[in-house]
Amino acid sequence: MTARTKIVAGNWKMNKTVAEAISLVEQLKKDLAAFSGGEVVLCPPFTALASVAKLLPTSPRIQLGAQNLHPAAQGAFTGEISATMLREAGCRFVIVGHSERRRYFGETDAFLREKLLAAVAAGLRPIFCVGEELPDRESGRWPIHLRSQLQGALHGLPVEVLSEIILAYEPVWAIGTGRNATPEQAQEAHALLRKEMEILHGASIASPLRIQYGGSVTPQNARALLIQPDVDGLLVGGASLNAESFTSILLSVE
Ligand code: PEP
Repeated sequence: MTARTKIVAGNWKMNKTVAEAISLVEQLKKDLAAFSGGEVVLCPPFTALASVAKLLPTSPRIQLGAQNLHPAAQGAFTGEISATMLREAGCRFVIVGHSERRRYFGETDAFLREKLLAAVAAGLRPIFCVGEELPDRESGRWPIHLRSQLQGALHGLPVEVLSEIILAYEPVWAIGTGRNATPEQAQEAHALLRKEMEILHGASIASPLRIQYGGSVTPQNARALLIQPDVDGLLVGGASLNAESFTSILLSVE
């Protein structure tokens, strides 16, 4: 089995002013000074990216990510931001296809595919989110839904793009609800995603692929999720907004 370095990302969503972001990152730097459990990615809002970038060391264990991008290089897309702009702001990662983007902004698989291409072309590693809604979980159709999201956005992408992607399994019913997937449900879904990636793109892509779990992760449930063989990290929303809870989640990686 390929050894995969764990990767934990904090998605701050539309939270934190610049001053609040700076204070959180300064605290995290202190708390994580001796941390050696894997990669850490912070995804603040756009307005805080440059200030947070200045606080992160140059060969960082803590890296910077954005929450979204537009696939076009530039142009008349009011309110949007390009991959090159994110790189310039110091980002190495970008979240693509979060369920909130799909739900509230109508982002389709085809559009997300363009974002993946643009992100990698600019040197960003995409954290590509997939996940089923509650009716699909309850009816047992969730594997069909996950396969369709993978195929819809990733079919035919070149190896250079696929090999940069980090996948995040985020069941929509678990996001911000306090109801996390059980470790067994997460493992089952992650194994299915890895198998599907192998069928679609081969073992050389599927085996090193890191798959994060996201959805109501807390210091209490992080470890049980992380010890599953196909859970290679976490994508944390609410609990990443507080230094104590995010640090405690990270320490469960070690
Ligand atoms: C998320 O939005 O990516 C997420 C996982 O949120 P939470 O941890 O708050 O459920």
